[in-house]
Amino acid sequence: MLFSDSYQNIYKMPPLVSVPETFVTRVKDLMGRLGELRTASGVATTPCLLPVISVSGGPLSGSDIRGLGFEFAITNAYLWMKSGNQKDIHEATGFKGVMMTDSGGYQVLVYGSVGTTNREVIEYQKKIHSDVAVILDRPTGLTSYKEAKLTVEQTIRSEEEAKSLIADGRTLWVAPIQGGVYQDLMASMLKKAVELDYDIYALGSPTPLMERHRYAELLDMIYFARMRIPYEKPLHLFGAGHPSMFSLAVAAGADSFDSAAYALFAKQDRYMTSFGSEKLDNIKELPCSCPVCSRYTVRELMQLPKKERERQLALHNLYVSMAEIKEIRNAIREGRLWDLVESRARGSPELWQAFLRFKEYGEGFMEHADFRKTFGRGMNLIDALSTDRPELKWHLEKVKELTSAAQVVELVPRWYKGKRASKAFLAGYPFVLAPYELVDVYPVSYMKYARMTPEEELAFLEQRLPTLLQGKKVITPDPLLAGMLGRMGIDCELRQDQT
Ligand SMILES: [Zn+2]
Repeated sequence: MLFSDSYQNIYKMPPLVSVPETFVTRVKDLMGRLGELRTASGVATTPCLLPVISVSGGPLSGSDIRGLGFEFAITNAYLWMKSGNQKDIHEATGFKGVMMTDSGGYQVLVYGSVGTTNREVIEYQKKIHSDVAVILDRPTGLTSYKEAKLTVEQTIRSEEEAKSLIADGRTLWVAPIQGGVYQDLMASMLKKAVELDYDIYALGSPTPLMERHRYAELLDMIYFARMRIPYEKPLHLFGAGHPSMFSLAVAAGADSFDSAAYALFAKQDRYMTSFGSEKLDNIKELPCSCPVCSRYTVRELMQLPKKERERQLALHNLYVSMAEIKEIRNAIREGRLWDLVESRARGSPELWQAFLRFKEYGEGFMEHADFRKTFGRGMNLIDALSTDRPELKWHLEKVKELTSAAQVVELVPRWYKGKRASKAFLAGYPFVLAPYELVDVYPVSYMKYARMTPEEELAFLEQRLPTLLQGKKVITPDPLLAGMLGRMGIDCELRQDQT
């Protein structure tokens, strides 16, 4: 087989339509996807942020939030039930879009118990016409293994009990996944919940991790769950706070998340940006052009009455959040989600640490990789870490196939200036190893990167070359490369007179 023939497979990938039709995937990138959730009140595009609509009256109404372009919002059914509301939830909140309701599980986490039953909360959510509703779970939070096990057992019982109560009707039902940071508990919970065949799955315990900026553990949880839930089922993340981590959560496999952060931050005079948040009185000039920031200066905002300032800050915070969601969707469309995630991760050490986890997610990235979008456009490689992106993994798999039968491999590093053999492989950053004819085709030729010095390039190759060359004899005219391979235990011969 000619090596370049395998590239033709790019054009033969199957169409991206999932069944059943509750959720349709349109475009994929990493573990993220652009999709459509079909509900009784219409279609919601994912990935998306569901702003939390407060029951007791937050800074923004349901119609304010709809007016900002949000198609999908969430409110707390348990608190509406306690308030005595009997109206349709779209009417009660003033949100004319797709409405998700939470069951009160979070209140269980905070207060220990809520004095209601699974059956009662389910019946109530049906009655108020929730489009997407949650059974009454018991969130794990950050707790001991023993306690976490109890929360998993109780949540599984609730999900089993709920099946007969939710059998028909307009509502899509969500099964929360508990177990928190204990992977074996989460695995058994996932197995059971997937057998029960819910419409949507949701990660139940991320808030405490998020509040402590433990994003790396959070991403591991998302990826772990995503890999065990059927691909046609959406995965929701409860309580995802800040726009700076939305892209990481999407790339690890979250389709939607809800958050009250826009309002909680506004209450504390905190101003969101796509990189973080800042106390309003620490900012000299508002770095945004949304209607709020175009109308007011920092000083004018500070002089507004508290309630009005809270409202304006909440509006700005949601504008920023929505802009980030649109940025993520465009990145998925264009095959540059990796680039976006990498640039956001550079914004803080905690996010960067989380991004480092991505090199462990290769299996999922490769399973869902679709190279049609990067085929024809450039990829930005910032440094050696960027080479964990699926296009390069794919390239290296092909190189491995190509070299698998060879006993002897001739290698020339890119920095070598002398004559080279025509059958030799080129070694260098970022492609590691490539036959000469492939350096000018996809994906290597579509990569934009800063050139390394020979020393940097050698250090890069030292990490990646040995696994590709195990058990082979290498011939190279370059003493630097020969020395390195020798130290790594590869049988290597320095031969200057290649033809
Ligand atoms: Zn603004």
